[in-house]
Amino acid sequence: DLFYRQMPKVELHAHLNGSVSFSTIEKLTARKPHLNIEHNMTAICSGQRRTLDECFQVFKVIHQLVDTEEDILMVAKDVIRQFADDGVKYLELRSTPREEKNTGMTRRSYVQTVIEAISQCGNEGLDIEVRFLVSVDRRHGFEVAMETVKLAEDFMLSTDGLVVGLDLSGDPTVGHGGDLLPALQKAKNCGLKLSLHMSEVPSQVDESELLLNIPPDRIGHGTFLHPEVGGAQSLVDKVTMNNIPLELCLTSNVKGQTVSSYSNHHFLYWYNKGHPVVICTDDRGVFCTELSREYQLVASTFGLSQEDMWSLSHKAIDYTFASASLKEQLHRRWLELRPSLF
Ligand code: IMP
Repeated sequence: DLFYRQMPKVELHAHLNGSVSFSTIEKLTARKPHLNIEHNMTAICSGQRRTLDECFQVFKVIHQLVDTEEDILMVAKDVIRQFADDGVKYLELRSTPREEKNTGMTRRSYVQTVIEAISQCGNEGLDIEVRFLVSVDRRHGFEVAMETVKLAEDFMLSTDGLVVGLDLSGDPTVGHGGDLLPALQKAKNCGLKLSLHMSEVPSQVDESELLLNIPPDRIGHGTFLHPEVGGAQSLVDKVTMNNIPLELCLTSNVKGQTVSSYSNHHFLYWYNKGHPVVICTDDRGVFCTELSREYQLVASTFGLSQEDMWSLSHKAIDYTFASASLKEQLHRRWLELRPSLF
């Protein structure tokens, strides 16, 4: 739908290697034919569903395809361009710094390369502001988490504000977020904003309770926080008391089967409460979606008007980790772009 494509948007929950488009994946598979990777191994297309576990297998395949600095540079630039093409004016990209013994890529050179991609896109004059969140993969445990926080802190200081925060993600069925608390706390104390995946699967009440005590600046998914789905009122109270925005990704949750249908998505619960929510893609490549499509989906599923959707997109500016001056600049941009749409 042209309206949602043209509408200026903020994207706050996008994993780099999950956001790679089909055409970029084709370029990568052509470079590494010996891997014999087929399309259905890297993407879950329309009408298809997978278990969450199967979704995490997809990332393993993509990681095999993207294992050098050269790959990261190409992938990051392509992903940024594609978000810009979809009308995203401000993007917070997140990615897990990965060490690849075979190619010599280090966690540091990984982050350096993503930063390089962001600055090259800026020099090319793309109409999009990009910031970076360094991801901690919960599966990798405490020591890697501490190392990653250190890396994020170093880059926050050396990149003049391009690195703005830390993300906690990875397979929610593996490991316990509680073990990583000191690392997350350290990140928060040094000025990194925190966006934590939380209650993405049922029975994470204890973990979410601990994570909410930090508290984080934003929550990824939060699918099972509320008592109606097996969460707890105490979790809802903490989220509302601290007014913590939720990053919601409809297609991802339905295709990964943590949510049974679009109309059952927890968007409605939080939206009806008037709680801050932001519509995001999660993994636009893997789940074959776009941010404009997610906006359209929310509108059609819950019967929201274009005006309502505009308001969601506009409010999202306040939930970004951008500086106050950039937020102000974005607000002005939104007001400029508004009249031509209605
Ligand atoms: P990368 O961090 O750029 O390599 O992006 C892929 C990674 O993002 C995966 O290996 C996971 O750690 C993480 N990720 C992507 N989607 C999800 C999700 O829905 N839940 C939790 N983690 C995710």
